[in-house]
Amino acid sequence: MTTRQVWFEHAALHDGVRADVLVTIDNGSIASVESGVPPGGDVEQVLGLTLPGMANAHSHAFHRALRGHTHGGAGDFWTWREQMYQVAARLTPDNYFDLARATFAEMVLAGYTCVGEFHYVHHRPDGSRYDDPNAMGAALIDAAREAGIRLTLLDACYLRGGPGTPLTPAQVRFSDGDVQAWADRVDLLVDDDDVRIGAAIHSARAVDADSIAAIANHAGRRAMPLHAHVSEQIAENEQIHGEHGCTPTALLAAAGALSPRFTAVHATHLVPTDIDALAAAGCTCCFCPTTERDLADGTGPSAELGDAGVRLALGSDQHAVIDPFEEMRAIEMNERLRSMRRGTHSAAELLMAGTANGYRSLGWDNGGAIAVGQLADLVTVSLDGVRLAGYSTDALLDAVVFAGLAADVTDVIIGGATIVRGGAHATIDVASELRRSITAVRGAAR
Ligand SMILES: [Zn+2]
Repeated sequence: MTTRQVWFEHAALHDGVRADVLVTIDNGSIASVESGVPPGGDVEQVLGLTLPGMANAHSHAFHRALRGHTHGGAGDFWTWREQMYQVAARLTPDNYFDLARATFAEMVLAGYTCVGEFHYVHHRPDGSRYDDPNAMGAALIDAAREAGIRLTLLDACYLRGGPGTPLTPAQVRFSDGDVQAWADRVDLLVDDDDVRIGAAIHSARAVDADSIAAIANHAGRRAMPLHAHVSEQIAENEQIHGEHGCTPTALLAAAGALSPRFTAVHATHLVPTDIDALAAAGCTCCFCPTTERDLADGTGPSAELGDAGVRLALGSDQHAVIDPFEEMRAIEMNERLRSMRRGTHSAAELLMAGTANGYRSLGWDNGGAIAVGQLADLVTVSLDGVRLAGYSTDALLDAVVFAGLAADVTDVIIGGATIVRGGAHATIDVASELRRSITAVRGAAR
């Protein structure tokens, strides 16, 4: 890729928002950043506020087919899960490629430049292998590449229905049978410039203690990011307490899973010793606020985690909403509702959760900031729309984090290439591809 220069009207740098910022991009990375440079010559100009690219640290792409179909009515996480399994049952490598490509493209339009796809639908519905045992993972990798988004494929091990409970028929396609078979399959997947392979323990419900230790070992040997769903539900804590007499976090700690490469997804129902363990090991917690509220999960202890020094990242998870601004501010807004106090998390902290912390959690340590040596992943928000009209230049970050929306994103650069310009994806008609791919999957559903 050639060297490219772009002038940004405003940009969020590490020391605050600066005006007139000239960025030089070389080979997909940022080679120089200068502020106070007037626009001029034939240098490309981008108006608005440019932020570091945002990381969606927890995604299940196929859940996008549930949006608008599962929000009404009674029930809880467990009744929702039955509806989700009906869609999971109908995925094929072909229809999943189409659905994921459209979903990832929607993410890019919203300002996500990197996604962690927590992937567990590995095999045919009866559990038998595809000819390529990674046909589903390959479909996700190809989909991300076409959508232009950076991907960490978090390949999840899923072995049982719960403590002492076998897999249900709907879960059979998630399982490799044992950890060794999971590891052998994952080892066929390789990193490249835009794709990282990571590991995941689906949850302490779905993986026994010895297998958790073996997965953690394997992830450690390959230095892979390791994610797990942790304490999303009180019932999950009760099941693990019944089996092991401890919390899911304590079980993961005892099995050697906690490390700076580990991310606890949700981390909603934690006890103080869980927070201490996550902090001591340098872990990240990935909150998914729009999902957690939709599924009536509860809200996680963001203030306590922040005080303990645990990094927070964010994910759109089931994609009831794909909007990084909504996720960022929800950390603080949920905390306000919980504590009846304002100002626990600043806009700058929330932006870190949405950007650098997510990149780090996904194994891209050089992403999520506008600085020399960082990946050239950049998102620009228009300041001309109705939501942000009247903003103050000294509180620009507050305005965008607390009042901006995905719909305000005009331009997205990923790895130095412009993927979104003027609010449109460069190669994909996203709404029509979503409609087509969701109808194909749902149409086949019972
Ligand atoms: Zn999840």
